[in-house]
Amino acid sequence: MSCLECKNSSLPSYSFRVLEVHTLHIRDFNGERIIQALGDFRNYEICTACASEEVQAFLFPAKRLMAKCLPFVSLAVVGLVLTMALTLRDVMAALRALGPLAVLVGVSGVVSESRKVLRERDVLREMGRDDALERSAYNLMLKDAPRKYNDNDITYIPVNARTLGMTAVELAGEYGLLPAVSRKAHTLMHEGE
Ligand SMILES: [Zn+2]
Repeated sequence: MSCLECKNSSLPSYSFRVLEVHTLHIRDFNGERIIQALGDFRNYEICTACASEEVQAFLFPAKRLMAKCLPFVSLAVVGLVLTMALTLRDVMAALRALGPLAVLVGVSGVVSESRKVLRERDVLREMGRDDALERSAYNLMLKDAPRKYNDNDITYIPVNARTLGMTAVELAGEYGLLPAVSRKAHTLMHEGE
């Protein structure tokens, strides 16, 4: 098997066994409800080089911060320009009104993206090197694995010692599963397939 991130198959890698959860959000007169079903078991690999690069990206987060925040910085700048475009009247008036909104969305985007990156950095810092690598490998896998199946969102339950030790109720809580789906997942995970 090859690394899901770089497609290289010659490097040692972390392999993850996951169970797919397909969730369909339905909005009707009664508000929103979900239909949920289990998909297949999948095996994905992330190589040690990609995992290590991902850990470094968070431990020295300047580049990652820039990449995550740039779209919001641009939005805030556009917003500022629109807000200050006081000389252009009429046609621009409606557009100008959007200026402060764009600034607001941009700034709050920068704040929330930075928080996410720095929070992950702190988590990885606290961990041993091996745990940090495995966590980053798993997060990379989540980033690269399919997220949609037709209109369904795909999420994943990792199959490992920790999740195998959980009850159906705990699985439901942690992975946002409906009770029946969670019971079935619990059974399947313990059966193997
Ligand atoms: Zn790789």
